[in-house]
Amino acid sequence: MKAIVFHQHGEPDVLKFEDVAEPTIRPNEVLVRVKACALNHLDLWVRRGIPGVPIPLPHIPGSDISGEIVQIGADVTTVRVGQKVVLAPLVSCGKCTACVAGLDNHCRQATNLGYMIDGGCAEFVRAPEVNCLPYPERLTFEEAASIPLVFQTAWHMLIARAELQPGEDILVLGAGSGVGSAAIQIGKFFGARVIATAGSDEKLAKAKEFGADHLINHKTQKIRDEVRRITNKRGVDVVFEHVGTATWDDSLASLASGGRLVTCGATTGYDAKVDLRFLFSRQLSLLGSYMGAKSELHTVMKLVAAGRLKPIVDRVFPLAEAAAAHAYLESGSQFGKVVLRV
Ligand SMILES: [Zn+2]
Repeated sequence: MKAIVFHQHGEPDVLKFEDVAEPTIRPNEVLVRVKACALNHLDLWVRRGIPGVPIPLPHIPGSDISGEIVQIGADVTTVRVGQKVVLAPLVSCGKCTACVAGLDNHCRQATNLGYMIDGGCAEFVRAPEVNCLPYPERLTFEEAASIPLVFQTAWHMLIARAELQPGEDILVLGAGSGVGSAAIQIGKFFGARVIATAGSDEKLAKAKEFGADHLINHKTQKIRDEVRRITNKRGVDVVFEHVGTATWDDSLASLASGGRLVTCGATTGYDAKVDLRFLFSRQLSLLGSYMGAKSELHTVMKLVAAGRLKPIVDRVFPLAEAAAAHAYLESGSQFGKVVLRV
């Protein structure tokens, strides 16, 4: 089969379009003919190499996959050959205490498709049966592939970790990113007032289109000052962080007394500071979040099928042009997802 493979870590040009052997499935797995694979920042980290994470080489990246099932293992009972499918990215052991409690994002053996195991930047990918999600019929393959990782992550952050309540104010950083654009929609779905930030007026106009109530251009405005103005000096109940050091100080300063900051990433750097006097006196909560449980993704898929949450596709590249797609994602000029068509 054709696949995007890298043999060493580095810049986008390490991504090669090559012939490789088709995957062989285990009894509890399905083989999926990939139709689309959406990119995430995770793909960029995996390609560049992450200290302390020995990604097996050569490697096929790609975590967000839609396609059709072409083969099922002997033990598979809930899906059939020919069925359209969206794959949950997180592959866990299914047997440990965390997994049986439905907290598969706490499984010590968990990884993502395209992370420690081969992913979907290929004509075929293998995945466990339990990773098969119902396909929202109205969606194109590109739209369907744009859902799992960002919506699961944003849902887990806002609902499971920050316990967002109706009527609360939330600050969503990086509205143009996949998780940011998902967070705006989830925030509005739960009846929150959403303040969104982005680096261009074009992105902010799109954020408004997807429900943001207030907009901050972080290139021309100071986030904390605008938040204070919009909230009448109170600050927001929840800050949705994933940017890292570039926005961290503004994020903390934007919290109301008793506010919660939830983060899933550190795209601009991880070495952030916290003034402990500010943390305790204002009774703030700092919450880490990683991926989400499969049950949350099933909820998301129902809401997508009902048209309540919408995947946002920015641009589609052919699989062979994965290197150009990576460079485009790295440029940060997208609003929504960058997708490879297979
Ligand atoms: Zn487990």
